[in-house]
Amino acid sequence: MISIALDGPAGAGKSTLAKAAAKKLGFIYVDTGALYRAVGLKFSRLGYNTELNCEIEPILENTAVDIRFIGEEQHVFLDGEDVNALIRTPEISMMASAVSARPPVRAFLLELQRKLARENNVIMDGRDIGTVVLPDATLKLFVTAAPETRADRRYKELLEKGADVKYDDILSDIKTRDYNDTHREIAPLKVAEGGIVFDTDELDFNAALAALMEIINKEVKK
Ligand code: C5P
Repeated sequence: MISIALDGPAGAGKSTLAKAAAKKLGFIYVDTGALYRAVGLKFSRLGYNTELNCEIEPILENTAVDIRFIGEEQHVFLDGEDVNALIRTPEISMMASAVSARPPVRAFLLELQRKLARENNVIMDGRDIGTVVLPDATLKLFVTAAPETRADRRYKELLEKGADVKYDDILSDIKTRDYNDTHREIAPLKVAEGGIVFDTDELDFNAALAALMEIINKEVKK
C-alpha cells in the first residue's frame, strides 16, 4: 500500500490539496482532524470546555469514533451518529485542539488511522502523520504558509459558506492553535524525519496542486 502523509498547521490548504490529489491518484483521502473534532464534540456535548476538567479515559471508554466513505466523501461517526455537519464550528476547532493535547485521546485514535493506511492507498492529512502515525509512509510532506495567509483563506472559505465571522478572530484562533499544536508534549506538530517542506504561501490552489502532483509523481512513482 502507498501512504502519503500530509502534515502542517491549520489552514495551510492541506485538505483541499489532499482531496484533489487523492482524486487524481485514486487514493482515499483521510482527514484525521475530523477524528479529533468528533472527540472534541463529545466533550463539548458533555458540557466540558477547553479546560477539560474531567477524567478523560472513562469518557473515551464510552466513545466510538469511526470513519465511513460515502461516495468519495469521508464521514466521521461519533457513537453511531454522522457528525460531519457539526464539527466545523470555531468552538469545536478549539475543543479539537484541546482534546488532541491529551495522550489518551491520541492513543484512542491511533489504531483507526493505522488501519485505514494498512487497508488502502491513502493521503492522510493531520499534524503527526509522518512523525507518529505512519513513520514509514511512502512520502511525508509538511504543508505550510504564513498565519495571515492561512487566516485569509479560512476567512474567505467561511464567508462563502455564509458564516458570520471576523478575520481577526480567525487569525487569533489560528495562532492559538499553532501554539498549542507545536508546543504540546505529545506528538507536537513538526517536520517529520525525511519530510519535505511544501510552502503554499505564494501559490494559488491550481499552482499548489500542480507542484504537489509533481512531488508525488517524482517521489512515489520512482
Ligand atoms: O485539521 P483540523 O484543523 O481539522 O484539526 C483540528 C485539530 O485537531 C487541530 O488543531 C489539532 O489540534 C488536532 N489534530 C491533531 N492531530 C492530527 C489532526 C488534528 O492533533 N493528526
